[in-house]
Amino acid sequence: SILLKGIFLKGFKSFGKPTKIPISPNITAIVGPNGSGKSNIVEAIQWVLGEHSLKNLRASEKFDIIFKGSKKLSSSRSAFVELSFNFNGEEYKIARELTSSGENTYYINGEKARLKDITALFGANGMVSIIGQGKIDKIAMSTPDELKKIFEDAAGTSIYIERKKEALSK
Ligand code: ATP
Ligand code: MG
Repeated sequence: SILLKGIFLKGFKSFGKPTKIPISPNITAIVGPNGSGKSNIVEAIQWVLGEHSLKNLRASEKFDIIFKGSKKLSSSRSAFVELSFNFNGEEYKIARELTSSGENTYYINGEKARLKDITALFGANGMVSIIGQGKIDKIAMSTPDELKKIFEDAAGTSIYIERKKEALSK
């Protein structure tokens, strides 16, 4: 089994102050007023797992994810996010950092790694399914066939279905 235990953010979007967010084994609800950073936390998770779509990160350029500074805090020199997982009883830390000079680095347990190594840890894909704001209504309005596709994507089985189709068409 794989469980997300916690998220540590430093200089990611609105998290100018180093912030630790514990995740409970059952359900974790993050509440707060509009603009307080709830979606930023979800995007931080996506980002560590390799998200490169600026649109999905609600950014117009890659440096937009680095804390810009506020009245009280100066801007950050890098965005750093670390996810702590419990993977079959063992602790794993997976992190990503982007510096303002453009260096992008992934880490597994504090050692430099490639995105490939991170995705390999999680299997082909899947394991992490994120249903973002605005997708709930899409799900509610879906036909049974569309729903099936959404759940297959979430379960990570769609990649195998695609591969099977590809194999059969040869
Ligand atoms: P809602 O309830 O409206 O969905 P939310 O809690 O999901 O709100 P987010 O969208 O996560 O809020 O946070 C948006 C805030 O993050 C905005 O105030 C925005 O200015 C801030 N923000 C985004 N990027 C940065 C950055 N690089 N530096 C500083 N602040 C940032
Ligand atoms: Mg939001």
